[in-house]
Amino acid sequence: MVITIDGPAGSGKSTVAKIVAKELGFLYLDTGAIYRALGYLALSKGIDLNDEDKVVKLIDEMELDIKIQEGSQRIYLNKEDISEKIRTEEIGMAASTVSKHPKVRKALLDLQRRFALKNNLVAEGRDTGTVVFPEAKVKIFLTATPEVRAKRRLKELKEKGMHVNYNEILESILKRDRQDSERETAPLKPADDAVIIDTSELTVEEVVEKVLKEVKKYGGRY
Ligand code: C5P
Repeated sequence: MVITIDGPAGSGKSTVAKIVAKELGFLYLDTGAIYRALGYLALSKGIDLNDEDKVVKLIDEMELDIKIQEGSQRIYLNKEDISEKIRTEEIGMAASTVSKHPKVRKALLDLQRRFALKNNLVAEGRDTGTVVFPEAKVKIFLTATPEVRAKRRLKELKEKGMHVNYNEILESILKRDRQDSERETAPLKPADDAVIIDTSELTVEEVVEKVLKEVKKYGGRY
């Protein structure tokens, strides 16, 4: 069984997806980390993120290893653990830019689908419900106001010791929303059969409960 959780930056998808996966004993796949890894590699090599062919070529050089350690996902790029490094807003923007290229998205599809071959999966990321796993049984789309999302992101980044301010984060979130929604390939939008949950006024526990309720509609059999 595959459950997809999509939504814009700061909607709470990662937090919720991780807890839901744990509760159900499913594997958790953070697809954004794959695009972040590519954005990180392109930036570190000084490659123009808008140059589709150059970015696609990089995928061949990218030895990506996604491992689950103590319940959390670690991502290794050419043997280096980059799990923490890719969490900055700068890498988020780079991921958003490289991910708008159709050839890049196509090249990364199989990698993502492979995870569902042997596992029950909670797949988190922008197009998991619309493109990567259109057959998923349960599709969730989380939203929240940009202000709430910026506050959450601010808290998260501050806890990681980063120096950030609210206005910068809000601006970056609005810019990323625009870039992700307006692109032609796999734009950020809910699948037709997605359940939309506005998380602005909800606690994490309340959102998790709502998601689990959707899953239970399948009789608790996965
Ligand atoms: O979810 P996260 O913030 O880590 O994603 C970073 C960026 O990667 C997003 O802004 C989006 O442009 C891109 N992405 C995507 N498709 C996915 C996951 C992420 O295009 N499935």
